[in-house]
Amino acid sequence: MDADELDIVYWPDPVLQAVATPIDTIDDYVHALAGRMIELMYEADGIGLAAPQVGISRRLFVTRDPGNDDDAVVWINPSIEVIDDTPGDATEGCLSLPDIDICVRRPVGIRITGQNLQGETLVLESDEHIARVWQHEFDHLEGRLITDRMSTMDRLRTRKALRTLRQREF
Ligand code: ZN
Repeated sequence: MDADELDIVYWPDPVLQAVATPIDTIDDYVHALAGRMIELMYEADGIGLAAPQVGISRRLFVTRDPGNDDDAVVWINPSIEVIDDTPGDATEGCLSLPDIDICVRRPVGIRITGQNLQGETLVLESDEHIARVWQHEFDHLEGRLITDRMSTMDRLRTRKALRTLRQREF
């Protein structure tokens, strides 16, 4: 599909549960894909978006630039490493799960390594909110959603909303 025509896909689309495959070549399509994803992220007022969320099961995600909200950062074939395993709890939403908020416990400190669109290796470390965003988006590349990380209480609390979502026509 033309990258310009891509749109956000919603749970329970099976693409969201697949492990994404690495990107071998950063070609024109990857550039167009990243461009479209950045556009969709801003349109939906999100802080991150992973390729499986636009139906493309490849290892790429975009986030807002933690240093400048008007800029986006592209991560190609990213890997993440825990540098501070102190657990932190926060409520997360997901553009593929409209109207669902789930409290997710994650380690607070993360180092992320990946390539940008120029093929340069980028390494960043954070113990701020963006470290949570990296983990959330990385989960998407592994076919994991926040619904896979919810507590029993959240499972009960969101049951109705998830049922509505499952029956919704997009
Ligand atoms: Zn998400």
